[in-house]
Amino acid sequence: MSETPVTAWSALLDALPHAAWVAALDTQRVVAANAAAGGLLGRPAPVLPGADALALCASPEDAAWWQAASVGDRSPLHSDVVVAAADGRLVHASRSLKVLPDGRHALAVLCDRSSEVRAEEARETLMAELQATLESTADGILVTDATGRITAFNRRFAEIWSLAPELLQQDDDLVIQDAMLRAVSDALAFQTRQRVLRETPGAVATDRIELLNGRVLERVTRPLVRGGRTQGRVWSFRDLTERLAAEEKIEELSLHDTLTGLPNRRSLADRVAVAAADARRDGGAFALLVIDLDRFRQINDSLGHELGDRVLQTVAERIQGCLRADDLLARLGGDQFAVLVQPADAAAAESTARRVLNVVAQPTTVDGAAFTLTCSIGVAMGPSQGARLDDLARHAETAMRAVKASGRAHFRVHQARAEGDRRRHMKLDHAMRQALVSGRFRLHYQPQVSLDDGSIVGAEALLRWRDPEMGEVSPAQFIPVAEDSGFIVHIGEWVLGQAVRQAALWHGRGHALPIAVNVSALQFRQPHFVDRVSGLLAVAGVPPRLLELELTESVLVHDVDEALTRLHALDKLGVQLSIDDFGTGYSSLAYLKRFRIGKLKIDRSFVSGLPADESDAGIVRAILQMARALGMRVIAEGVETEAQRQFLQDEGCHEFQGWLYAPALDALSFEQRLVQAAPAPPAAPSGRRIRLVRN
Ligand code: C2E
Ligand code: MG
Ligand code: MG
Repeated sequence: MSETPVTAWSALLDALPHAAWVAALDTQRVVAANAAAGGLLGRPAPVLPGADALALCASPEDAAWWQAASVGDRSPLHSDVVVAAADGRLVHASRSLKVLPDGRHALAVLCDRSSEVRAEEARETLMAELQATLESTADGILVTDATGRITAFNRRFAEIWSLAPELLQQDDDLVIQDAMLRAVSDALAFQTRQRVLRETPGAVATDRIELLNGRVLERVTRPLVRGGRTQGRVWSFRDLTERLAAEEKIEELSLHDTLTGLPNRRSLADRVAVAAADARRDGGAFALLVIDLDRFRQINDSLGHELGDRVLQTVAERIQGCLRADDLLARLGGDQFAVLVQPADAAAAESTARRVLNVVAQPTTVDGAAFTLTCSIGVAMGPSQGARLDDLARHAETAMRAVKASGRAHFRVHQARAEGDRRRHMKLDHAMRQALVSGRFRLHYQPQVSLDDGSIVGAEALLRWRDPEMGEVSPAQFIPVAEDSGFIVHIGEWVLGQAVRQAALWHGRGHALPIAVNVSALQFRQPHFVDRVSGLLAVAGVPPRLLELELTESVLVHDVDEALTRLHALDKLGVQLSIDDFGTGYSSLAYLKRFRIGKLKIDRSFVSGLPADESDAGIVRAILQMARALGMRVIAEGVETEAQRQFLQDEGCHEFQGWLYAPALDALSFEQRLVQAAPAPPAAPSGRRIRLVRN
């Protein structure tokens, strides 16, 4: 066999992708090595020839192999080794040693596994950290694969589900799942839920599970996504039992009085609200009794607080004992109790009050001390006197205080008296503000009808408000309050905007119909009122003549110069101006001409007496005459009868509005009326009627 030249070895070795060298079997000396070997061993490749092959990769296995090879053993060696590189690195490699066919040389190939080993170590560290994290959470964690097989769980999981250690050791999914199923109180629901979650692999869900042992678990599950694909699920279970119990206790404490165990004010308030809702629905009534012990302070002071508390407990028991099962006794605080009697009319409330007076007045003995207690009771009726505990209790307390003032030990039912205006105003004012932000205001439109031909020639926008508590509130009630508080400015803004939008809508549908809007004096005096009006019209794209502002005479009598400037500006803008409720104010006739008012509206107080009432008829004729002289149009409001309409037509009035034709209608109904109302044939000309043209 010819000798293989070292250069031939070198060429072959250089072609290998891994570190490799060839060594003589007899000397164990390297005869050729490639550059990769130099790199792996940390020495320049040229110095390797001549080196001791066993020294380059020294392990007991290597030593044994060299030994065996030198005596003719030809079996190769493959295993992982750690090689100490010359520069101090420890290199993990898989090494193979093999006798070459010449029988005199061996080939060593080392494949560097260092990065692989490092990655493995990092993975192990991560796993250890994850395991530690899992074990340290207070939640039970379970991981399943896409088929529902369990791949991991922590100790807490086993604890929460009360899984016995021997179950876990069996490492059998079915056993664990079966144990879980047997632990829940609703196995069917649990199974269904598991199935649904399996069928929607991407779903994130949270729910509660009740266990048969009474514990409540919160279950959160989210998909386990690897490489963008859902590979399974992670489930976490948190034991909520203690937290829920604590919450329940807090709730219980917050709704009950600790001394007597009776419901407290808060829970009574809830019950009153329910009673009010029931009463509203069924048209029934209920009563609230406020019971205040007479001279309780003396008992407290003479017997001490501890005995005082016992007395309160005794009283609570006695009152409770004389009530019907459906009545609710609550402690409001101190020596005050309340009873909600539902359903109840005044007679039922009285009879309850008498029973309470009677049981409280029974002689009492506490710790050997004998005495007689009395109480004073005030009664308020719901929902007529209030729908909330605060309101009813206030009324009942007023009545109760009246009982105390007139000698105690009795009861009194609150009489709804005219409460201070201030209070009602405050309530209305508050409710109005809520109404505006909650969008409870609406506009209705009352047709204005031509007395010439019966056609609809305009609409007056009238504000409507339904309050959830008070029901439909009339503007005659709330507008004065809004004027008082200044809130009318905000309401007026809303009305104006809404009316202009409505005018735009109708205009767009071919109804060029002026809408009259009531403007309060305060609103009219706002510095930017005119700009506001022109801005709204411009934005909505409404011709200004389709807006009419109904002003009251009070606008004209205060700050006349300012009013004049403003009215001129509005007139220039092209909006129409009219005076509402004409005749009730003080406007001087001479002024009207200067004010560029186009139309007068005869107040309905003058219309109501027509045609019989001489004085009303006289006033109406005078207004019509004057308007004629000034070249103004006249509309009469509040026309309810045909006779009134006829009178106005005969006297040359131009338009009317009133229930005779229609009340204020919602926009939709108004529009239907508009479409239906075909103009009637012109009325027979009346000799006295004069056509007025504005000059
Ligand atoms: P007003 O401007 O004089 O409005 C006419 C009132 O007479 C309206 O009452 C209307 O519903 C009622 N009415 C119409 N036809 C008849 C009828 O044939 N017979 C009778 N008896 N009454 C009739 P409403 O809507 O209750 O308004 C009352 C007042 O509230 C209004 O009197 C007006 O001063 C004020 N108001 C209504 N809406 C607004 C508003 O948007 N802004 C301002 N500032 N005030 C408003
Ligand atoms: Mg009006
Ligand atoms: Mg009016």
